Amino acid sequence: VGRRQVAPAEEEAVVALARAGATAPRRAPAHGAPPQPHDYAQLERLLRGELRPIDVLRELEASGLRGLGGAGFPAWRKWATVAGQPGPRHGVVNVDEGEVGTFKDWHLLAHDPRPALEGMLIAAAVVGLRHLWIYVRDEYPDVHALLEEELRALRERLAVWQQRHPHAFGDPDAPRPDGTRALLPAGGPAIELRRGAGAYVCGEESALIESLEGKRGLPRLRPPIVAQRGVFGRPTLAHNVETLAWLPTLLRDGGAAWAAGGVRGRSGWRRYSVSGRVRRPGCYLRPAGTTLRELIEAAGGMADGHELYAFLPGGASGGILPAALADEPLDFDTLAAHGAFVGSMAVVVLSQADRARDAAASLLRFFAHESCGQCTPCRAGTAQALALLQDEVWDRERLADLSQVMREASICGLGQAAPNPFDSVLRFFSHEVTR
Ligand code: SF4
Repeated sequence: VGRRQVAPAEEEAVVALARAGATAPRRAPAHGAPPQPHDYAQLERLLRGELRPIDVLRELEASGLRGLGGAGFPAWRKWATVAGQPGPRHGVVNVDEGEVGTFKDWHLLAHDPRPALEGMLIAAAVVGLRHLWIYVRDEYPDVHALLEEELRALRERLAVWQQRHPHAFGDPDAPRPDGTRALLPAGGPAIELRRGAGAYVCGEESALIESLEGKRGLPRLRPPIVAQRGVFGRPTLAHNVETLAWLPTLLRDGGAAWAAGGVRGRSGWRRYSVSGRVRRPGCYLRPAGTTLRELIEAAGGMADGHELYAFLPGGASGGILPAALADEPLDFDTLAAHGAFVGSMAVVVLSQADRARDAAASLLRFFAHESCGQCTPCRAGTAQALALLQDEVWDRERLADLSQVMREASICGLGQAAPNPFDSVLRFFSHEVTR
């Protein structure tokens, strides 16, 4: 893989992209937006044999790229697991960005969907995927329209690539005498654009897959994991869109160079969605390991008349932390000691004008509304917790009981993470809920 001298994949690194109201395809403000490859050049290197699938997997591993939809699972490991399953294998791109305070995927796609589509096809070629679904939340009609337009152009490109590189097309599951295999199915993989119907839980990959199959979006029990049994029972590579969008940059610059972008021992780059009591809410591209204090600075400081009091490091699910933790690196695994996590890097800033208990009650109302109702600890637990949070003085013991049952017995991440907001309040803001 060719490497450039300049280390960061996106060297300017600062994207102060105000998310101003109405969405407008390709008119998203991009003050200082870093150059991102959007020419399918890395995919073409793969198709003409200059890069091999094993090279891509090695670069992916060197980069430390993790799933940026919230789970943070190492991407290379997921690719290797799916690639090792019998065909046919399929792919799902998750654009159901429903986490509270998260808008980075919208921003990325509204600005330019091509890096994500190129990343999707690179994944298809390396893992040998036949059918690809892009699942877009219905609240993003602008992104849907852009993707439709870009996919039309992409289908024409695929025909051209097949003429140019016929050896790369064929049956990905039929080994050739020379030990190679076709990278993409003849004619290119089937690509379908689907609209979600607004359920938060459909961002969870197994619920999303149920929805894709035309059923109610109910999370599945695991095992088996979707890498083994996903869409229509076949092994499936499911990825958040930002994870895929990094592929062209990462292959252009090299995995190690991309990893070197991180600070405080973290790897790579992150898009933080910053909202709340700051001067310039927006999507900020920053090194992994950036702190809240640095993000607030990038966002123009606190809004006039407001002082930092608390923050949500990871949307609705990641807990609520006090101002005293503003210098902690915001990345996967770094907040576990505080009972919190970053998830999809949605940072909501609260000031002395807010109360953590109000934020927690609001989030529990959200979880109770969005619970799919399939399992009792989540369905009944969110409702009971919400009722308890209305009391002036919180019942610490009952809330602790509920928290334990929900964490241990809920089927999916919604029920397991729903206690985080009130657990955080009891841990860091007990002065708000005791006499
Ligand atoms: Fe549904 Fe909640 Fe159970 Fe998840 S934890 S399956 S959202 S009821």
